[in-house]
Amino acid sequence: QKELLQQLKGKDNITAGGQKINVYANIGNMADVGAVLKNDAGGIGLFRSEFLYLESSTYPTEEQQFGVYKTVAENMAGRKVIIRTLDIGADKQAEYFGLGKEENPALGYRAIRICLTQTDIFKTQLRALYRASAFGQIAIMFPMIISVAEVRKIKEIIEEVKAELRAGGISFREDVEIGIMIETPAAVMVSRELAKEVDFFSVGTNDLTQYTLAIDRQNEKLDDFYDAHHPAVLAMIQMAAKSAHAEGIWIGICGELAADLSLTGTFLSMGIDELSVSPGMVLPLRKRIRES
Ligand code: PEP
Ligand code: MG
Repeated sequence: QKELLQQLKGKDNITAGGQKINVYANIGNMADVGAVLKNDAGGIGLFRSEFLYLESSTYPTEEQQFGVYKTVAENMAGRKVIIRTLDIGADKQAEYFGLGKEENPALGYRAIRICLTQTDIFKTQLRALYRASAFGQIAIMFPMIISVAEVRKIKEIIEEVKAELRAGGISFREDVEIGIMIETPAAVMVSRELAKEVDFFSVGTNDLTQYTLAIDRQNEKLDDFYDAHHPAVLAMIQMAAKSAHAEGIWIGICGELAADLSLTGTFLSMGIDELSVSPGMVLPLRKRIRES
């Protein structure tokens, strides 16, 4: 790993044929930022913000969240930090949400569905994110999207948040990049329309595989059936990539599949613009790209 780092530090991720691709890292905690920098990732492609909610015994305040997002943005020193808004649900529970048990948590009241119905929770997070945007290269992304209507509603709420910050004389960046996770077959099927609404896509292959194959990603009995190389999953990614590029936006992959070195060539040929993997996989992936 040390040798690899010396070999690759500061270098572009470019194939023999001259194709460039960004390699970012996924984190689930502020403590992981050190590993991101140590492995020389180009940015953070997925910051799962759930930990803020799961580690707390009550709703994290705007100040608490702002402190975390600002610190991460500053530590990344100008490199992009894509923060995903709350993705909690019946499988990832925080007591105080009072969500209760559900028959089908993966298909249930979770993620953006909670944010769009309990908008006070959502607005608190968005205010913290926009305030932190003044301190680094923050981008925001939304999980579990299935429709254009959801994205329009999100953008309305963002405009409200911005108006409130402006009125309060609080500084933030006007041009924060807004993206969505592509992790439902519905999002793939309407991806051309979705691409007109946002700045980027990030494919969540863990959920996209689960929903495409109708296989619970947490059920170990089904491990042999959970085939992330299934042609249907790859076709979904291909379709989303075509839609993104047809509308002039970029597309990344932040699910586990991004780290599958046997698919790096496939993703390059689809024109994927960014791959986001666990910090420990950043250097092996960068090596793989240079050998492609
Ligand atoms: C995914 O679904 O692929 C993803 C990146 O999000 P999570 O694993 O947090 O659901
Ligand atoms: Mg997901």
